[in-house]
Amino acid sequence: MHIAVVGAGIAGLTIARQLQTQGHHVTVYEKSMGVSGRMSTRQTELGGFDHGAQYFTASSPRFKKEVADWKKFGWIVPWNAKLVTLDAGKAKAAGQSGTRYVPVPGMSALGKQLAHGLDVRTEHQVGAIEALGKQWLLSIRASTVPVAATAGPFDAVILAMPADQAEPLLSVLPPLSKQARSASLAPCWTLMLGFQHSLDLPYDGAWVNNSRLGWIARDDIKPQHRAGERWVCHATAAWSVEHLEDDAERVKEKLSKAFHEATGSWIQPIHAVAHRWRYAQADKPLATDFLWDAKKGIGACGDWFSAGLDGAGKVENAFLSAVALARTIG
Ligand SMILES: Cc1cc2nc3c(=O)[nH]c(=O)nc-3n(C[C@H](O)[C@H](O)[C@H](O)COP(=O)(O)OP(=O)(O)OC[C@H]3O[C@@H](n4cnc5c(N)ncnc54)[C@H](O)[C@@H]3O)c2cc1C
Repeated sequence: MHIAVVGAGIAGLTIARQLQTQGHHVTVYEKSMGVSGRMSTRQTELGGFDHGAQYFTASSPRFKKEVADWKKFGWIVPWNAKLVTLDAGKAKAAGQSGTRYVPVPGMSALGKQLAHGLDVRTEHQVGAIEALGKQWLLSIRASTVPVAATAGPFDAVILAMPADQAEPLLSVLPPLSKQARSASLAPCWTLMLGFQHSLDLPYDGAWVNNSRLGWIARDDIKPQHRAGERWVCHATAAWSVEHLEDDAERVKEKLSKAFHEATGSWIQPIHAVAHRWRYAQADKPLATDFLWDAKKGIGACGDWFSAGLDGAGKVENAFLSAVALARTIG
């Protein structure tokens, strides 16, 4: 079959690789300039900021196997971070959990590796899916072309993006669109801070209590990441919802203050930028592996499916969902 995959995050790249291995002809469409989606690295002159996913863990045998391969290839390494919980400036060592992994030299590096050998069209935003007999055409906006173009026909289309973005494209198939509507992802305001001098904090990352911030982590301390003290700070989902439409400058000020209060360090950054993730992590996932209408050849996968795990919104969910859908398509 000739299959279009829309979205080049971990789910889209995983299903594209699987389907290609299974003998299908696959084209991936991605609206951004690069691949990796929310596993992203923002490049600055101070170095990269992993401003979306911070790290990932593996709990299922299938994902553990894949992670072992990625580790063997040198694409990812364990991150043995010193993590604490912070409450009103007081640090308490956080309990141990499973191994945390980070791609090197930055979060987006994994997607770049997975994209090798795939036909990925970046800066191609899919605006609609239209029927052509029993096949599908995609209406595409590319930065290089001033008018919407058409791609296809495809025997199947897979949407590998947040539920809220998949839902309008699924309007060609109301039952799937309805299911996508019942899932949702919470937003996350993110602050990236770069410092000229060391803050000398006795930890690499922290869950923050009683604050606008829920999590802060040092990027430069991650293995094989560029030197120069850089912190990524994530606001809580509740604060991000409340301030979703706020001006980025105002958010930057509020979250900078929260960072200084949480760490007790008042050293001023030389770089401060706020970024809004409108869809960060699934808060209302679907208790299934994926969506797929075999007769019509339309499906969806991603981190908004529990995919056999407790909860969702993680790299592992996105991977498992993609693998399960590829296996079903055959
Ligand atoms: C702030 C934050 C912190 C996180 N922390 C962690 C963590 O610590 N651990 C963890 O495991 N996970 C974490 N996650 C979640 C993790 O990043 C996601 O679960 C995973 O990356 C989702 O992958 P995906 O492929 O399903 O979706 P995405 O990565 O969102 O990929 C979807 C892709 O589709 C593209 N796209 C969307 N619409 C269109 C369109 N119409 N046409 C073409 N392309 C389109 C997007 O540009 C994007 O590249 C975090 C996420 C965020 C944002």
